[in-house]
Amino acid sequence: MLIALSGTPGCGKTTAAEELEARGYQVHYLTGMIEGWGQFGPPDETGSVPVDVDELRDLLGTWAEGLRGVNVLDGHLSYLAPADAVLVLRADPDTIRKRLSSRNYPEGKVMENAEAEGISSVLIYALMEMKDRGREERVFERDITDLTPGECADWAVKMISALKGEDLKSLVRYRPGKVDWTEVISGWY
Ligand code: ADP
Ligand code: MG
Repeated sequence: MLIALSGTPGCGKTTAAEELEARGYQVHYLTGMIEGWGQFGPPDETGSVPVDVDELRDLLGTWAEGLRGVNVLDGHLSYLAPADAVLVLRADPDTIRKRLSSRNYPEGKVMENAEAEGISSVLIYALMEMKDRGREERVFERDITDLTPGECADWAVKMISALKGEDLKSLVRYRPGKVDWTEVISGWY
């Protein structure tokens, strides 16, 4: 089983993924994998590497063939992998702004990501990708702004357990459409 942990940069994916790894899950970090493949690049000023999504999808397809057991893939483009489910972590765009600014991202990049979160961009890409795979009903989202990393990991564990049992009905509350940042964004203008 492959669970993609996606979301806008700064939402807390890697922190939650590390918590899952500490609990014994097999966790893979897409940024490092992309670096290792050495096929894309060079990295921009924020360290992120521009990728060709079609090539990355192919690489992830081949990579996933070798997986056994439950696997978690951290990365905002993790939805390009042949995942059994995509968990899109959501966080308040103002929180994303603050976090990326303190990571010394250039202001343009900070706003690009905060706005992307505001308009649910990653969620929509994940839905389109999973729709192409006939798995649209396996995309979930949760606002984790006020959760601790441990609580995020608890949620992921709960999701994995329900998915193992193919109990999709119990997960309807995490189907897309619940998170709405309209009010946050309107405060910007
Ligand atoms: P991503 O991998 O989605 O880009 P990170 O996990 O690197 O995000 O987290 C971005 C920043 O937010 C880091 O400074 C991290 O310490 C902080 N952070 C992550 N998760 C939480 C959380 N649940 N609560 C508070 N701060 C968090
Ligand atoms: Mg990360």
